[in-house]
Amino acid sequence: MREKFLVFGSPRIAEDEIEEVVSCLRSGWIGTGPRVAEFERRFAEYKDAEHAVAVNSCTAALHLSILAAGVGPGDEVITTPLTFCASVNAIIHAGATPVLADVDPRSMNIDPERVKEKITSRTKAILPVHFAGRACDMDPICALAGEHGLSIIEDCAHAIETEYHGRKAGCFGDFGCFSFYVTKNIITGEGGLILAKKPEHAARLKVLALHGMSSDAWNRFGDSGYKHYLVTEAGFKYNMMDLQASLGLRQLDKVEAYWQRRGEIWTRYMDALADLPLTLPAPVEVGTRHAYHLYSVMVDEKRTGISRDAFLTAMTGRKIGVGVHYLSVPEHPYYQERFGWSPQDYPHARDIGRQTVSLPISAKLTDADVDDVITAVRQVLARS
Ligand SMILES: *Cc1c(COP(=O)(O)O)cnc(C)c1O
Repeated sequence: MREKFLVFGSPRIAEDEIEEVVSCLRSGWIGTGPRVAEFERRFAEYKDAEHAVAVNSCTAALHLSILAAGVGPGDEVITTPLTFCASVNAIIHAGATPVLADVDPRSMNIDPERVKEKITSRTKAILPVHFAGRACDMDPICALAGEHGLSIIEDCAHAIETEYHGRKAGCFGDFGCFSFYVTKNIITGEGGLILAKKPEHAARLKVLALHGMSSDAWNRFGDSGYKHYLVTEAGFKYNMMDLQASLGLRQLDKVEAYWQRRGEIWTRYMDALADLPLTLPAPVEVGTRHAYHLYSVMVDEKRTGISRDAFLTAMTGRKIGVGVHYLSVPEHPYYQERFGWSPQDYPHARDIGRQTVSLPISAKLTDADVDDVITAVRQVLARS
């Protein structure tokens, strides 16, 4: 067995990131400033997008996007039951009502047919999540949005590198929301970003992200003379710091190299686990680019002889950190009590949530680490 515990989702941090953070500290400007502005510019360039607004989390990005879309109390937003709670919480924080549409069992992404069934006169937006980095089926989703006059707010927390039919994830609707949390494809510690199609949306997002103030701190304290700010609405404290953007800038340099490395690990798992009684991820759909954020296998006790939870414990016991992405949203008591949701109403998300195990796929993994994961999976299944 390996000596050191393999931490799930541990990010790869290189020397130049450390140097950039130190240089930011020495510059005396650690709050929102030139590095954030450069990170926004470079991220927009990477995504072929017009406007980027950096914030301090993807949760904040989703919250502000829903507000900027003009969605609020009395309005419904359709999203997936197979996502991190933040996707749903952001809808609730904006005062709107979340509505769930079940996923396709193989792609694990929201099923456009189920979305269609959930559209009412109160529906104002669709919030698709490109699960694990696999592109949602955006053609029918965009068609539904066009037909019913709905906004699209993409949750791209897993999907920095994702593409669909020649277009980049986060650029289909009015807003694309990204996460740079420690386990994501590129990281700033905590951090997020919104791609906005319209300049007026980008401007509103900037105001909302910094207390509702009409000009940001950079303009206020810069060398072009003191400027008063005026509060134009009750905003939030969601701005990204230069300290975070320092990490982001140097991580962005490596986004494609890290994607390639995760792709290699993905392929290695596909080959090495093919003969086991597990369900492996579906092949990548033609005409799309998968971001390889998560590699998850389904542990069905009827086939494996071991329960999913016993499998998680056995992997951890073999010093391999694993994850669960995710117990479906209706499994959680808060949503059951508030919205009357129940897991059996979203059977595909329920089954995935009860069987799924995510194996480590960080760009930090060495070939030896990947071999250790494969060995552990084989040993755990052989013993059951
Ligand atoms: C991580 C994640 C979020 C939240 O990102 P933060 O930056 O941590 O706020 C939202 N949606 C999904 C699908 C995520 O995986």
